[in-house]
Amino acid sequence: MSEDNIQAEYRRKRVKRLKKYIILMLMISIAIPFVLCVILFLRLHSLDDRLEELSAQVEELVRVTVNQREELERLTKDMQGTGQENAVDSEAETPPSGYGTESTDVGQGENAEVWQPEETAEITAAHRVYLTFDDGPSIYTQDILDILDSYNVKATFFVVGKETDSAKESMRRIVEDGHTLGMHSYSHKYSEIYASVDSFADDFTRLSDYLYEVTGVRSSVYRFPGGSSNTVSKLPMTDFAEYLDSLDIVFFDWNISSGDATSEKLSAEEIVKNSTANITRYGTSVILLHDAAEKKSTVEALPMIIENILALEDTVILPITEDTESVQHIHWSDGTGERQTKEQMED
Ligand code: ZN
Repeated sequence: MSEDNIQAEYRRKRVKRLKKYIILMLMISIAIPFVLCVILFLRLHSLDDRLEELSAQVEELVRVTVNQREELERLTKDMQGTGQENAVDSEAETPPSGYGTESTDVGQGENAEVWQPEETAEITAAHRVYLTFDDGPSIYTQDILDILDSYNVKATFFVVGKETDSAKESMRRIVEDGHTLGMHSYSHKYSEIYASVDSFADDFTRLSDYLYEVTGVRSSVYRFPGGSSNTVSKLPMTDFAEYLDSLDIVFFDWNISSGDATSEKLSAEEIVKNSTANITRYGTSVILLHDAAEKKSTVEALPMIIENILALEDTVILPITEDTESVQHIHWSDGTGERQTKEQMED
């Protein structure tokens, strides 16, 4: 091979190497911006999500602030309105005679007007259905309220003395949305509540005062933990019924059980069936449901329960008020003989 040939071969190799190098550089200069673009795009996306999250939080904060301001205004008005005989703690002072106001004739320690939700439908319908939720507030209360709201239906919540911020928030929303806030004992501990009338009274007063403090309203309806026909109380349940009656508190049991409290978990379909199958048998149907962390199928069943009821002829869904015909499992008398309660249990 001549020297010229060797040199030419050498040059060709260099050119080839150079070409390879240039192609590599070209590819790198394309790849880097591309990768950067992808990274920036992903980052933008996650910032977007974060922004959405933050604006939701801001909205929530605004909502809470507005609620608290309204609450404060209500409390201020309450305190001004009822004068010196009134304070947030319910040390009852004797009102000057002849100056009794609506709010002073309610009974021991009762400073607030007894709260009544607005009538939402005529109670003259042939079938009046009352959806009642026990044991809340829970993680599902807001969902339940959203569902009720979407059907513009009012219900009744028999709550216990939960003290978390979200529980208080739920209690306020129950009232603001026009539902009935009922009582279901502060502790829900059978052994404590039913130990004596005194301990029942302590628990009752604690819950009544707590709900008043949180929502600004005095609840006037009660559901016994376990119902008035429970078998855990050693004392006759009529003792407690008489205590409630002495405070003008009406207690409600139920005549339709959704079955959502049974130990075997029912499907949403079964809960719908239990809740709605017998409504046409009664004038007044009080349906027992639960607002509790382990009762997700109740939430799933609720839209169908409401739709089934609304599809029935001459049937309305109402919140319980003091005037609602009570459904009670026990017969008792308040001693005056004026009032005999009805028993409307299922067969
Ligand atoms: Zn309960």
